[in-house]
Amino acid sequence: MAREFSTVGVVGLGTMGAGIAEVLARTGVQVVAVEVDDAGVERGRGHIEHSTSRAVAKDKLTDAERDALLGRITYSLSLADLAAADLVIEAIPESLELKARIFSELDGIVGPETILASNTSSLSITEIGVHTGRPGKVVGLHFFNPAPVLKLTEVVRTVVTEPDVVADVVAFAEKLGKEPVVMGDRAGFIANALLFGYLNHAVAMYESKYATREDLDAAMRFGCGYPMGPLALLDLIGLDTAYEILETMYAQSRNRLHAPAPILKQMITAGLLGRKTGRGFYTYDGPDSPNVVADAHTPAAGGDAGVSIREVQRVGVVGTGTMATGIAEVFARKGFDVVLRARSTDKAEAAVGKVRKSLDRQVAKGKLSEEDRDAIIGRISPAVEFEELADCDLVIEAVAEELAIKQAVFGALDEVVKPGAILATTTSSLPVIECAAATSRPSDVVGLHFFNPAPIMKLVEIVETISTAADVIATAHALCEKVGKVPVHCGDRAGFIVNALLFPYLNDAIKMLEAHYAGADDIDSAMKVGCGLPMGPFELLDVVGLDVSLAIERTLYNEYREAGYAPAPLLEHLVTAGRLGRKTGKGFRDYS
Ligand code: NAD
Repeated sequence: MAREFSTVGVVGLGTMGAGIAEVLARTGVQVVAVEVDDAGVERGRGHIEHSTSRAVAKDKLTDAERDALLGRITYSLSLADLAAADLVIEAIPESLELKARIFSELDGIVGPETILASNTSSLSITEIGVHTGRPGKVVGLHFFNPAPVLKLTEVVRTVVTEPDVVADVVAFAEKLGKEPVVMGDRAGFIANALLFGYLNHAVAMYESKYATREDLDAAMRFGCGYPMGPLALLDLIGLDTAYEILETMYAQSRNRLHAPAPILKQMITAGLLGRKTGRGFYTYDGPDSPNVVADAHTPAAGGDAGVSIREVQRVGVVGTGTMATGIAEVFARKGFDVVLRARSTDKAEAAVGKVRKSLDRQVAKGKLSEEDRDAIIGRISPAVEFEELADCDLVIEAVAEELAIKQAVFGALDEVVKPGAILATTTSSLPVIECAAATSRPSDVVGLHFFNPAPIMKLVEIVETISTAADVIATAHALCEKVGKVPVHCGDRAGFIVNALLFPYLNDAIKMLEAHYAGADDIDSAMKVGCGLPMGPFELLDVVGLDVSLAIERTLYNEYREAGYAPAPLLEHLVTAGRLGRKTGKGFRDYS
C-alpha cells in the first residue's frame, strides 16, 4: 500500500512552486507554502488565484471547488511550519548552495519518515541529499512548466534512495494526475538534457543574427509542430533558470554545446529574465503576462518598403517526386499556371496524375469540389524540354538530393529561362550557393525549402545566399504568403533552421539510449508529455528514415565539425543493418 501524503510542504512559490501548490491543493492535499518574504507570498498567492480563476472561466473548475482549493493552502514565512508535512517539495532558485541549506534546515524540522523532494531541473539530487541525515528519503520530483498543465513528472532516484520511497512518490504523482517516469541522477535528467542543447543552439543562432527571434520560433512551430518556439519557451522557463541548468549540464558533460550562449548572461544581468520580469527575448505587456507586445525588434508589417516585388504568374517545377508534385499542387491551387517538367512524357504525365490523386482524396473528403479539382489540374501542364520553362517567372527545382544533378538542372535552366526569372532550389541540405554558381545569374537564385507534405506543412525556409538579390527574397516572401505558407528567412548554412536545430537533438536522444540512461519509450514519452512535442525522438527518427537522418547528421557534422554533432554509433549501426525505420518495417522499433 502506497503511503498517504495528506500534508505537503512547498518551499518557494515562483514560476514552479505556485503551480505545484495548485496541483496539490486541487487533489485535496493540505499545502503549507513557504516563501522568503511577504512579497514572495503575495506573488505566489496572486499566481494561484489568477490561474484558478482562469480555470473557472474555462469551466474546468466550479467556484466552490476553487474556494475549497484555495482554502487548502496556508502561507508561511517559516520552514518551522513544515514540521507536520509528510512530504516537502522544494522549488527555490536553481542553486546548489541554496538548496543544500534549505534541505539541511528541513532535515532538522520534519519527522523522520518525511520525504524531501527537489524540483531541481538539473542539479544533482545526490549532492542535495548528502546535506541531510536522510539521503535515502531524498528524491527529485521534477514538474514541468506550467505545472498545472503538463503531465510529465521525472522522479529521480539516487544510488541511495530507498525503493519504497520511489514507489510512494510515483504513486503520489499518479494520484496528482501526472505521468511519472523514474530515472537516475544525471544533469538535466531526460527531458532537459535533450531540450536545453536545442534551446541553447537556438539562442546562439539568434545571437549570431542567423535568423530573427520570430523566424526561429515560427520555424519550429510550423516546421515541426512544436507548441512553442525555442525563444518563447525560454522566456516562459526564465532565462536565469535556463542559464543555471545549462551551467550544470556543462559542468557534468563538458559538452561545448551546453555552455550557455553569452547573450543569456547579458540578458540576465540586464534583468531580462523572460515573462516573469515582463521582458526576455520578447517584450510582454507586464510582468508574468503571456501577451507579447511590439518592441524595437518587431519586424515592420509589409516587409522592406524600399524593395520592389517581381511579378510572378507562371511557375515551373522541375522533378516528379513527392516534393515536386506537392509544390506544383500548392501553386496550382492558388491560381498560378504551373509547368511540371520531367525527364520523359510518361514521367511528366504520371507526376500530374499524382497531383490529381492527391486532389481526389480531398474531393472524397468533401474538402474540394470536382470543378475546383478540374480547374487546378487544368492549370498544370506537363513538360519534358527545359525550353518549355522559358517564360516562367519562377522555376523551383525539386530533383534528387545530389549536387551534380541539381547543378546540371541549374545550368540547363540558365540557358533557357527568361532574364529576370527567379530560380529556386528546394534542397534540404546542400549549399544553395553551389546551385547559384552553376548559373550566370546567381543573384536570381534562392532556396525555397518546403516541408513534406508540401500541401499541408505551412513552413517554407527562404534561404538567402551571399549573392541573392533583395528583390528576389522579397518576392519569395510575398509568394509564400500568397500560397498560404509561413515564410522564415535564414542564411545558407547546413540544415538551415529546422534541421540544424532538430537533428543534433535527435542525435542526443540516440546517445542517451546508447548510454542506457533511459529506454526509447521513456525518452519518447518524456519529450511528448513533458515538452508537448507531437512525436518523441525515436518515433520521429523512424518516420523520417534512419538513412535520411544519418545523411543530415553527417552534413551538419561536416560543416560545423562540432564533436557533439558526430552521428551516434548506434544510428550508423542501425543503418548498416538495414533497419531504416518505418519504410523497412524496422528501425528503433519493429513495425508489423
Ligand atoms: P523562480 O525564480 O520563479 O522562483 C523561486 C522562488 O523561490 C521565488 O519566489 C523566491 O522568492 C523563492 N525563494 C528563494 N529562496 C527561498 C527560500 N529560502 N525559502 C523559500 N522560498 C525561497 O524559479 P522557478 O522557475 O520556479 O524554479 C524553481 C525550481 O524549479 C528550480 O530548481 C528550477 O530549476 C526548477 N524548475 C523550473 C522550471 C521552469 O520552467 N522554470 C521547470 C521545472 C523545474
